Amino acid sequence: MSIASNVSAIRARMAGAAKAAGRDPGEIQLCAATKMNDADAVRQAIAAGVDCCGENRVQELVLKSSQNAYAGAPVHFIGHLQTNKVRQVVGHVDLIQSVDSAHLLQAINAEAGKQSLIQNVLLEVNIGREASKGGFAPEEILPFLEHIDEFRNIRVRGLMAIPPISHHSGENRKFFQEMLQLSVDITEKKYDNVSMDCLSMGMSDDFEDAIACGSTMIRVGTAIFGARDYVKLHQT
Ligand SMILES: *Cc1c(COP(=O)(O)O)cnc(C)c1O
Repeated sequence: MSIASNVSAIRARMAGAAKAAGRDPGEIQLCAATKMNDADAVRQAIAAGVDCCGENRVQELVLKSSQNAYAGAPVHFIGHLQTNKVRQVVGHVDLIQSVDSAHLLQAINAEAGKQSLIQNVLLEVNIGREASKGGFAPEEILPFLEHIDEFRNIRVRGLMAIPPISHHSGENRKFFQEMLQLSVDITEKKYDNVSMDCLSMGMSDDFEDAIACGSTMIRVGTAIFGARDYVKLHQT
């Protein structure tokens, strides 16, 4: 299957899931999770009409940016970001989806201040409360947002989550529903610097469930590009 035909098959499934949930398919964006795929594959995904690209690693973002791979589409950062690498990301991406700690948000805000810009971000929620994962605990989010206006150079545009690996279809719906409720609760609070435009959740294996539960952005890698070659990664 080609990247173009994979993207159109995903669009059709997105539309089906939206329709089944009584939602407008136009309110759900498709983010291509481009990790371990080269500039040529990224260009094919953009030509096929994905709404944006999401990179996980700073090194890949810098390399593919230098190859002009993202021309024609916004690029987002979706992986764990170390504070010592924020300079290579802030101002270079439209959205940092994976802000997983107050410490990282502070570093992003400081760098955005230096560059005199406002960086759009999503807060990553550890919705499965997994010890192995970063992100804000769901109950931390509201208290944290009470003080968000201290960060003058960021704007929170929504939430992102990577739920636990599931073994049965539908298993993650409870987490997706919890995320939707959290975003509704935040919207009601009307915090400064915060809008809930984006609820980023759902990947290759569960995006239809995520759409049923209110996702406005799915991040899809495998279903667009095929299985990632981890052997190749470790050789480079
Ligand atoms: C890789 C990745 C995805 C996409 O995963 P697939 O299962 O390949 O669709 C989505 N979000 C993040 C943060 C990722 O790292």
